[in-house]
Amino acid sequence: MNKIEHLGIAVKDIAAANEIYTSLLGEKPYKTEAVESEGVTTSFFKCGESKIELLQATRPDSPINKFIEKKGEGIHHIAFAVEDIKAEVIRLKKEGFVVLNEEPKRGADNKWVVFLHPKSSSGVLVELCQEINKTKNSLQ
Ligand code: ZN
Repeated sequence: MNKIEHLGIAVKDIAAANEIYTSLLGEKPYKTEAVESEGVTTSFFKCGESKIELLQATRPDSPINKFIEKKGEGIHHIAFAVEDIKAEVIRLKKEGFVVLNEEPKRGADNKWVVFLHPKSSSGVLVELCQEINKTKNSLQ
């Protein structure tokens, strides 16, 4: 693991949350992006080296909607940057972590992503993310 890449925060109203985080961080989001497969719309803020990802559900069966129904708005996941996501999946499975999607999928902000079940990481949903290589565009 290289560093915490971003924190994901589940919100009900991303337009309102964008204003709050723009006030908090002193800068507008550098990117907004819908991820159709997850049923979310996202916005990303920079805070020095770190990032904040806001997530709002775009359909009732979105995982973000389920999260907010259960727990309300708040921190949804911690994302760690990794060099080799497939190698990390193998390593973490050996360590006993429950991997939610073994095959990396395309997430927001040009990343391959894999999620670990919160039950195996002290109640926190963990995202592994690897920058998608812009020239190759695939995992080797
Ligand atoms: Zn994320």
